[in-house]
Amino acid sequence: MSMTRTNEPSFRESVDLMFNRAVALMDLPPGLEEKIRVCNATYTVRFGVRLRGQIQTFVGYRSVHSEHMEPVKGGIRFAPSVNQDEVEALAALMTYKCALVEAPFGGSKGGLCIDPRQYDEHELEQITRRFAYELAKRDLIHPSQNVPAPDMGTGEREMAWIADQYARMNTTDINARACVTGKPLNAGGISGRVEATGRGVQYALREFFRDPRDVAKAGLSGSLDGKRVIVQGLGNVGYHAAKFLQEEDGSKIVGIIERDGALYNPDGLDVEGVRNWIVKHGGVTGYPDATHTAEGGAVLEEDCDILIPAALEGVINLGNAANIKAPLIIEAANGPVTAGADEILRKKGTVIIPDMYANAGGVTVSYFEWVKNLSHIRFGRMQRRQEEARHQLVIDELERLDRYLGDAWSMTPEFKQKYLRGADELELVRSGLDDTMRIAYQSMREIWHDRVDVEDLRTAAYLVSINKVAASYRAKGL
Ligand code: NAD
Repeated sequence: MSMTRTNEPSFRESVDLMFNRAVALMDLPPGLEEKIRVCNATYTVRFGVRLRGQIQTFVGYRSVHSEHMEPVKGGIRFAPSVNQDEVEALAALMTYKCALVEAPFGGSKGGLCIDPRQYDEHELEQITRRFAYELAKRDLIHPSQNVPAPDMGTGEREMAWIADQYARMNTTDINARACVTGKPLNAGGISGRVEATGRGVQYALREFFRDPRDVAKAGLSGSLDGKRVIVQGLGNVGYHAAKFLQEEDGSKIVGIIERDGALYNPDGLDVEGVRNWIVKHGGVTGYPDATHTAEGGAVLEEDCDILIPAALEGVINLGNAANIKAPLIIEAANGPVTAGADEILRKKGTVIIPDMYANAGGVTVSYFEWVKNLSHIRFGRMQRRQEEARHQLVIDELERLDRYLGDAWSMTPEFKQKYLRGADELELVRSGLDDTMRIAYQSMREIWHDRVDVEDLRTAAYLVSINKVAASYRAKGL
């Protein structure tokens, strides 16, 4: 992969540079700007676990960027490359992300330096529980103070272990389940959380394509139908985004980049087929019906309409930015474009839908899950049948009309069936997510179009979110 990072700032410095570009356009009181930018605290924990007859020491982090609202929120990443700089950058992005989509949280993030593929399930459970114990005893996992979620290398399984560990340590806490989100449904989770971030990427693109002016800024036209997409990382976020765009919007997934190289097929790849292949064979290598390139990163530079980096940070950098052909990039991953690459792409006219907005679907549905846990009731449980009963009244009335009009008009059975059904939790979650993604995009769009000094969506996103964080500090003091 072309990852040459000559003179590139670190991930955290990159986030700060982007923040600085935005605050330069704002009129914040002296000092407040710095208060918002800095990371409040980062805890490093080192702990030992006895594995395979030996004690192994692990290093983990939990960083709290801003506590202007509590609890603070942000995922826990399991990867060998995890370090303090990365965790702090990701925590800062969480602050801005939550503010932008109006999830009432401050920003936080956690990470454990580990390659999860080197351990079996039982070992991973021991390690995760021990990490959770270290964090929980310092209130770095807590329903009202700090609520983690999944990120790279973690998912429902790890969240269930963390929730259970917290509950064992806090046996009388009636809200214990709200200490972490992204749990499986049978352990206090919510329908639609697994797909949420990828679903949010789809909703973000749909909103982008609703305004022909935005589409034209990227030099594109029409809708998502037929658009050629390249996605990097077919994990939780990349898989769901690619799958929904292919199945529901008619987009063509022409390239998929994974750890062991990339697949390319100008006629489109079958996302489900590739995913199944990865599950079975551990990578994309050998997948039929596509050209395989061992140097996967090179495919970031292939011709396409929409590029979706959904794996790691810093993959579009000074080394390859000038060669990126996609006119539209949606940052499903956090920080995939470095500050230097961002400048090059902006000058080229590439439109970038920024990470803090593009992947906010995860935290949005995490917010719904947290509310569900605190209210101890599934969404829709009280209303669903009542809604159906009211719809039945309309159907009865229409059926009366039907009989009266004879052959002139009749209600289709499909309409009747669809209309009668009250919304279940999944539908409510998707509706709440769609609404959130639309409103947040519209707030960026307004600034992007109205302010001549704002040339890109990222700056617009920062302006919206920093304003909200600043307003919160102003209202309550420091
Ligand atoms: P994941 O672990 O489920 O998937 C990551 C995928 O990227 C895997 O398929 C992995 O094989 C692939 N990958 C790893 N290294 C690669 C490389 N060098 N080249 C190409 N592919 C590579 O992780 P995820 O949860 O989908 O997270 C991906 C990104 O999305 C991260 O930046 C994360 O911070 C961000 N994100 C995730 C969520 C969430 O809800 N899971 C929410 C917001 C943002």
